[in-house]
Amino acid sequence: MGTYAIAVLAGDGIGPEVTEEAVRVLGAVARRYGHVFNTIEALVGVAAIDAEGDAISDATMELCQESDAILFGAVGGAPRYEGPNAKIQPERALFRLRKELALYANLRPIRPFDALLNASTLKTDILRGTDLLVVRELTGGIYYGKPSEIRETAEGLDAIDTLIYTEAEIERIVRTAFDLARERRKKVTSVDKANVLSSSRLWRRTADRVAGEYPDVTLEHLLVDSCAMHLIRRPASFDVIVTENMFGDILTDEASMLAGSMGMLPSASLGTRRTEFGLFGLYEPIHGSAPDIAGQEKANPIAAILSLALMLRFSFNLKQEADAVEKAVKGIVEAGYRTEDLREEGKVIVGTKEMGRLIAEAVAG
Ligand code: NAD
Repeated sequence: MGTYAIAVLAGDGIGPEVTEEAVRVLGAVARRYGHVFNTIEALVGVAAIDAEGDAISDATMELCQESDAILFGAVGGAPRYEGPNAKIQPERALFRLRKELALYANLRPIRPFDALLNASTLKTDILRGTDLLVVRELTGGIYYGKPSEIRETAEGLDAIDTLIYTEAEIERIVRTAFDLARERRKKVTSVDKANVLSSSRLWRRTADRVAGEYPDVTLEHLLVDSCAMHLIRRPASFDVIVTENMFGDILTDEASMLAGSMGMLPSASLGTRRTEFGLFGLYEPIHGSAPDIAGQEKANPIAAILSLALMLRFSFNLKQEADAVEKAVKGIVEAGYRTEDLREEGKVIVGTKEMGRLIAEAVAG
């Protein structure tokens, strides 16, 4: 039994809808296991720009620094803050949190439920047995490199982005992947574009060097284009995939279809800071604010609820509780309940709140 402080940043669009359900499930965990979770809500994204003048305020950053973990929904989706001329982008909230809290390792587990194999666009026999973990570098690479701008030149406009990685940045994320692989099936696939990019050549060299310290783990290298193909050709052959920021961003959206829907995939963003309970981290579904379905009770809250399970496991070391949440999700899906994104003949379609309620009830036992 413990008292845990959680900053809850629900954000925009379906962010608050799915986060509310994750908090409902957290309440069920608290009641069943006797823990105290102090949740403190704050604004991020469009909501924060409108009310506080920035995508995330200094006060909210401070709240996050002082918490044991962060539960994050999604940000963005308001046309007035999008496009090249927007002064403050809602996504700045996430970029600031990741950078200032040094959350460099983004873990995205992908393990399709057997009951949902038919929901994927892939054939069941290709999918069966898939259980992979993407470890994406989150605080470096082309999303952070400077310069990054559109410029006026004598020949007209041009644009530049900078892809830069230090050896130390590569080494720490590759190490994270090898450490995680040791607790799984002991295989790491390092993804790069070493045939073209210098940053990828340093990435590959570093991965080879680190691999020398893990003789019990197999290392395979794949070019990112080839990995995109193998992910849908032989997904069950992967164990841990480690890759740089932008490649990981794109590959995990592709991989989300293995699980049937974006609404099924959780993520954990971790650094090295420890609290008295475990690793400090930020937990969020991989999907965005989905403005096309916001406010319609159509959002699948499972990605947010499974993100909560990751929080219980990594930040609070509450393994039994994390297992109970994951088991509850599996049970409800096996019982035939689906949200709209997983609509299937003969299944019971429920709204966001009802799905959250069913899972919370199953956790409560
Ligand atoms: P999105 O992930 O919001 O939606 C993509 C598609 O998947 C949509 O059709 C949506 O309806 C569906 N979808 C997503 N989550 C779902 C869920 N839980 N249940 C059911 N269906 C779901 O991506 P997008 O439409 O490209 O982006 C919308 C906004 O979100 C943009 O402003 C984007 O910048 C932002 N975004 C934010 C994050 C984040 O906060 N981490 C991540 C990605 C995109």
